[in-house]
Amino acid sequence: MTPDLETFRDSVVRFLEEEMQPQDAAARQRGHVGHEIWRRAGELGLLCTDIPEAWGGGGGDFRHEAVLCEEMACRGLTGMSMSVHSIVAHYILNHGTEAQKQRYLPRMAAGELVGAIAMTEPGTGSDLQGIRTRAQRHEGAYVLHGSKTFISNGFLAGLVLVVAKTDPALGAKGMSILIVETENCPGYRVGRVLDKIGLKAQDTSELFFDQVRVSEDGLLGGREGLGFAQLMSDLPYERLIIGVAALAAMEGAYKVTLEHVRQRQAFGQTVADFQNTKFKLAEVATEIQVGRAFIDRCVEDLLAGRLDTVTASMAKLWGSEAQGRAIDTCLQLFGGYGYMNEYLIGRMYTDARIQRIYGGTSEIMKEVIARGM
Ligand SMILES: Cc1cc2nc3c(=O)[nH]c(=O)nc-3n(C[C@H](O)[C@H](O)[C@H](O)COP(=O)(O)OP(=O)(O)OC[C@H]3O[C@@H](n4cnc5c(N)ncnc54)[C@H](O)[C@@H]3O)c2cc1C
Repeated sequence: MTPDLETFRDSVVRFLEEEMQPQDAAARQRGHVGHEIWRRAGELGLLCTDIPEAWGGGGGDFRHEAVLCEEMACRGLTGMSMSVHSIVAHYILNHGTEAQKQRYLPRMAAGELVGAIAMTEPGTGSDLQGIRTRAQRHEGAYVLHGSKTFISNGFLAGLVLVVAKTDPALGAKGMSILIVETENCPGYRVGRVLDKIGLKAQDTSELFFDQVRVSEDGLLGGREGLGFAQLMSDLPYERLIIGVAALAAMEGAYKVTLEHVRQRQAFGQTVADFQNTKFKLAEVATEIQVGRAFIDRCVEDLLAGRLDTVTASMAKLWGSEAQGRAIDTCLQLFGGYGYMNEYLIGRMYTDARIQRIYGGTSEIMKEVIARGM
């Protein structure tokens, strides 16, 4: 941390507590946060914080993203998938043509365009090469046909990166990413906002592409067949952000649990006085300390450009599994109140479950780690 980052953290906290938190219950009911809060976050300079200023971003680095992600995760504010938005912006920054960067990044930083990335399909998730969405060249454009599911920010997205096959005969080398601008886009349809067990304020949706025409300028990077390699090269960033959020959620859960057990009475003492409570929270506190050292080192490595996919996969695997264990332990100390949606710890419990599934499941993380042995 630096004094600059601390100042940035203060403005993030102010935004979250004064503007986002008061709207969270309504967003959970609705299933999405709405466009206005995205634009407000853009206005405050809280989107695309690690994108260079030349393209409208904040000109910061991954630590700015980590601060945002931490402050949201420790409060259980999961409605805006700012991390997916940033990941999308990074695909454009790292792989887009100059024209693509100029066209999209400033509007993403302003919150005018919410970003989504659509890989998963009803028939395939972990096995990305099994996708069936096709993009066929026809008269100076690509014609996109297929469907995607479980897409974060899907309902509000103004820009979707769609992973499609441009040449099915070539396997991984026949995959490309197309940039779809969703406004007034014939053939594009958003399906249901999916009814999930957690992340209630976040719009996870199905997307349908029925002969959607995307001009050739909408091919990410301007060359066919680069999609798989583009996806692979950004994995350390994506996986670390999940690890960062996991650890912050553990810290948030630990804090609210300490507060609860110190005031809740049972058998003439506080719940905090039971030896079991002390031991359970001692275990959680230890995991947090150990995790903090590892995650911070990964952040430093990412900044220095040396975080490899295997280590980032460890951060995602360990972080998401530890988050599940810690929040389960914390919830137990709330008794019945922990099972209530009204209580933050209950929401953190259901929100935590997805961390072991999206961005590559725990099993896939182990495969990747094992391949690096
Ligand atoms: C809330 C939410 C948000 C999401 N956001 C996005 C998004 O924004 N964009 C997007 O594209 N996708 C998104 N996803 C999809 C997510 O990434 C996939 O669900 C995930 O990758 C798993 O794919 P799957 O559901 O098809 O499960 P499957 O691939 O069918 O896996 C089923 C089980 O088999 C296991 N398995 C699969 N392969 C192996 C193997 N080789 N070895 C051992 N076990 C294996 C898996 O680990 C899992 O336990 C989201 C999902 C959810 C629920």
